[in-house]
Amino acid sequence: MKNILFILFAGCSLFVQGQTKKEYPQPTPMTHEMTEFWTPQPRIVVPGKTLSEEILVLPPSDAIILFDGTGLSNWEGAPNKTVLVKGKDMSKFKSSEGGEAKWIIKDGTLVVNKESGDIQTKLTFGDFQLHIEWLIPEGILGDSQLRGNSGIFLQGVYELQVLDSYGNETYANGMAGSVYKQTPPLVNAMRKPGEWNSYDVIYTAPTFREDGSYRTRPIVTVIQNGILVQNNTTILGTTPYIGFPQVILHGKGPIRLQAHGDKSEPISFRNIWIREL
Ligand code: MG
Repeated sequence: MKNILFILFAGCSLFVQGQTKKEYPQPTPMTHEMTEFWTPQPRIVVPGKTLSEEILVLPPSDAIILFDGTGLSNWEGAPNKTVLVKGKDMSKFKSSEGGEAKWIIKDGTLVVNKESGDIQTKLTFGDFQLHIEWLIPEGILGDSQLRGNSGIFLQGVYELQVLDSYGNETYANGMAGSVYKQTPPLVNAMRKPGEWNSYDVIYTAPTFREDGSYRTRPIVTVIQNGILVQNNTTILGTTPYIGFPQVILHGKGPIRLQAHGDKSEPISFRNIWIREL
């Protein structure tokens, strides 16, 4: 009798097992703090003095001028989110999705319009050399990431951080000159608010296998104010606020400038030019 009961019990439990879905442990949802590290803070290197307030590096003869102070004809509103669809070439995302660029031109500089969102170049690029100058306004208020935050998205995908890092500590992999949430700058090369900063960026686009994984990863070198801050740095993937870098298949992409939602006074850009490599 005992044996019969046991067989019935075992049979029932097998039946129940067959009906219930197996449950696996779920990882804790990520928060933004999980990918922020504050130490070591890159040491401060004071950039060399500029001789004047004028443009820092004039464009060479073969440069494509993206912004020279006269207009925004080379720019368009960027889609609300970084639109990244597997298998789609970034150049397919046309202005119709983001409308016209609505940032403000003031005294020959390009001032971020936070309400209108990011803007991006109409042209798309693979490998390039980019020059861009940016200014944190004097008297800017706010702390950490909420002070002069903007960004330059390489191929519309990978953020080179723009921030006021002058006397303003934040997580090292989120300060000016960082590949956002990945690689801190080698040193803190900030000029103080009211003085123009420059980035010279040398970028090698990734290549992909057919399955969408990287064959070769994107690589970036950045010189800020004449000082090396990224040296042939391998970019691991996308640069999200929350979560790990993701690998997303893309083709050529625009230069995208960030309208960050912080409440600090908007920053300005000028003298933006690019050389395709
Ligand atoms: Mg940013």
